[in-house]
Amino acid sequence: MVKMNHPKPKNYVLLGPPGSGKSTQAKLLKIKHDLAHIEIGSELRRLAESDTELGRTVHEIINIRKELVPDGLIDDVLGQVLKTIPHLIGVLLDGAPRKLSQIKEVEHAFSLHDRVIDRIIFLDISEQVAIERISTRWLCQECKAPYIGSREIIENLGPCSVCGGALSQRTDDTPEGVAKRYQVFTDETRPVIEHYEKKNKLIRINAELDPEEIASLIEQSL
Ligand code: AMP
Repeated sequence: MVKMNHPKPKNYVLLGPPGSGKSTQAKLLKIKHDLAHIEIGSELRRLAESDTELGRTVHEIINIRKELVPDGLIDDVLGQVLKTIPHLIGVLLDGAPRKLSQIKEVEHAFSLHDRVIDRIIFLDISEQVAIERISTRWLCQECKAPYIGSREIIENLGPCSVCGGALSQRTDDTPEGVAKRYQVFTDETRPVIEHYEKKNKLIRINAELDPEEIASLIEQSL
């Protein structure tokens, strides 16, 4: 019998402060490289909406205190999702590890599924750009398509042009919320970036450019 040796799929991590365009680039990367996209933040927001004790605790942490959830929860959420992904498909992990203590957890969760992190893609923007972008960011409640504009423009625009869903802002997308999340990124996630830079796994991208330019810089670096 001839044994087929499939090449191992590549696995990537996408990191960046709020407003750095992670979702937009993730969608493009997912299509271009046939990746499974794991968005830890949206998994946690989904959990925060559930009417359970865990849901209420997560809501309090992410929407009221605007802090990071405990590491163990990331391990659980990631483990649950990794289980559902076929072995031949690469993973694009969006939003973890977000602090040094999560590196071990994430790499361990990956290794349980015979995966390693091949590259970290870091979308870099300043705090000022993050606040400007996010305070005017709206998302379709159904398909999560992003829209940029003042409240007046968005109200005139009507429902989502992709699926007809209602447009709304995330609860934590206020200027104060963004400033707090940017600070958390600086304190907690920049050390993770430095860790992977030392391991020569980091791709640093200037994410203040247009989405098409950012996508092309990422492709050149991969
Ligand atoms: P995001 O959509 O990536 O901005 O994530 C939304 C919120 O979920 C963050 O502000 C954090 O409170 C929480 N969160 C997301 N990823 C992580 C993580 N890796 N570790 C801890 N908390 C996280």
